[in-house]
Amino acid sequence: MGAGIVGVNVGLALLKKGFEVTILDRGEPGRGTSFGNAGGIAVSECAPIAMPGTLMNVPGWLMDPYGPLSIRWAYLPKMMPWLLRFLAASRKPRVEQITVEIAAILNRVWEDYEPVIAEAGLGDAVFIKEGALAVYRSEKSRRAADYSIDLRRRNGIKIRDVTKDEIKDLEPGLAPIFPCGVIEEDWGRVLDPFKIVTGLYKHFLDRGGKFQTADVTDFVYRDGKPRAVMTASGDQIIFDTLVVACGAWSKTLAKRLGNGVPLDTERGYNTTVPYRDAKLSRSVISADDSIILTPMEMGIRVGGAVELGGLVAAPNYDRAKALFAKGREVLPKLNSEGGIEWMGFRPSMPDSKPVISASPKHDNVFFSFGHGHLGLTMGATTGRLIADLANGDSAPLNMTPYRIDRF
Ligand SMILES: Cc1cc2nc3c(=O)[nH]c(=O)nc-3n(C[C@H](O)[C@H](O)[C@H](O)COP(=O)(O)OP(=O)(O)OC[C@H]3O[C@@H](n4cnc5c(N)ncnc54)[C@H](O)[C@@H]3O)c2cc1C
Repeated sequence: MGAGIVGVNVGLALLKKGFEVTILDRGEPGRGTSFGNAGGIAVSECAPIAMPGTLMNVPGWLMDPYGPLSIRWAYLPKMMPWLLRFLAASRKPRVEQITVEIAAILNRVWEDYEPVIAEAGLGDAVFIKEGALAVYRSEKSRRAADYSIDLRRRNGIKIRDVTKDEIKDLEPGLAPIFPCGVIEEDWGRVLDPFKIVTGLYKHFLDRGGKFQTADVTDFVYRDGKPRAVMTASGDQIIFDTLVVACGAWSKTLAKRLGNGVPLDTERGYNTTVPYRDAKLSRSVISADDSIILTPMEMGIRVGGAVELGGLVAAPNYDRAKALFAKGREVLPKLNSEGGIEWMGFRPSMPDSKPVISASPKHDNVFFSFGHGHLGLTMGATTGRLIADLANGDSAPLNMTPYRIDRF
C-alpha cells in the first residue's frame, strides 16, 4: 500500500525476491510527499532533528511564524504526545544512539540505490552524486554546529570545512555574506524527485508488477489474521502479505492492524523557479535559515523548514514565500516570476528513525513509513530491508532500532 518513493522501492525489491506484487494507491503514483521534495540524497544527515539544545530553541522558533519551526496552535493538543517524545529524543545519550542507528541505514544508501537506478535505466542524467555545500552566516553559527558535525564525522560522514574564498569559487552566485561553510562530500541529488518515482514505477510495471487504484480504509480479518484490504468504495482486495507504505497517512492504517504508533507530520514548503539569471551548480544549505536550494531540471527549488499542523489544515503559502525571501538573501539573482509553490507532508517519527518492521501481531504484515526528512534518500535501502524481512532472509543490519513497537 502506497506508491511513493518508499512503496515503489519496496515493490521493486519484493519483485526481485520472486513475490507477485500489486501496489495499491488512492492516487497517481508519486504524487504524495515524494513529488516535490528537495531532491537530496542526503546521506550525511544522520543526526536526528531533535538535538541537544532543541528544547532551549523551541520557544524562540515558535514565536517567529516564519522561523525554522512553526506550529498551527489549534493542532498543538493533538501534537503534544509527539512533541514530548521529540523533546525526550533530544537528550544527548539518545541523540548519540539514534545517530548510530540512522547512519547504519545511510551508510548503505549508495550501495543499494546505484543498482536499482541502473537497472531502471535512470542513470547519471537524473541522479547525481556530488557534495552539498552548507554555508553559515557567522563563525559563531558554524561553531554552534560543531557538535552536529563532530557527531556525524564520528559516524563515518565526510565533512570538510571551506573558507569564504572557496565558497566564492564553488558558487560565485551566492551573496558574499557567508564567512565559512562545509562540504558534505557524499551527498547526491536528483534532478526531479517525481521522475525518480515514476521512472522506478515504470520499471516495476515492466518487470511484471501491477498497480490498482484503491483508497484503503480498513482490513478484513479471517481466523484472526488480516487477509484483505477494504476500500472506500466497499471493495475487498485479498492479499497473502501486506506492506503498509502510506507515508504520513500510515498511522490510522497501522492502528487498524493492531499497532498504535507515534507518527505525525512535519509539513514542509518550497518554491521552484525557472532558470533565469541565478546560477547554482550544487545543493546549497543555508544552515542559519534552515533552507536548502537545489538546482533541478525544471529550475531552482528553494525551501525546507518545518510546520507542525497535521494532515488536514490547508497549506499556508506565506511560509513558502518567507522561505523564498530567505533564499533570495542567499542567492540574490533568484527571481520569483513563474515560481511554483508546494507543500508536502513529511512522515515523521519523534526520534527521526523510520519504521522498517515486521508486524509484532501478524506474520503477514510489514510496515515501512516514517522516513521524515530522508524518504527519498532511504528509498532503495528500505525496499531491500523490507524484502529481506518479508522473505525471511537475514537483513544486513540489526533491525531492532526500526521496529514499530519501539515506543
Ligand atoms: C519540503 C520537503 C523537502 C524534502 N526534502 C527531502 C530531501 O531532500 N531528501 C529526502 O530524502 N527526503 C526529503 N523529504 C522527505 C521525503 O519527501 C519523504 O520522506 C518521502 O517522500 C516519503 O515517501 P513515502 O513513499 O513514505 O510517502 P508518500 O510519497 O507520501 O507516498 C505515500 C503514498 O500513500 C498513498 N496513500 C496514503 N494513504 C492511503 C490509503 N489509505 N490508501 C491508499 N493509498 C494511500 C498516498 O496517496 C501516497 O501516494 C522532503 C519532504 C518535504 C516535505
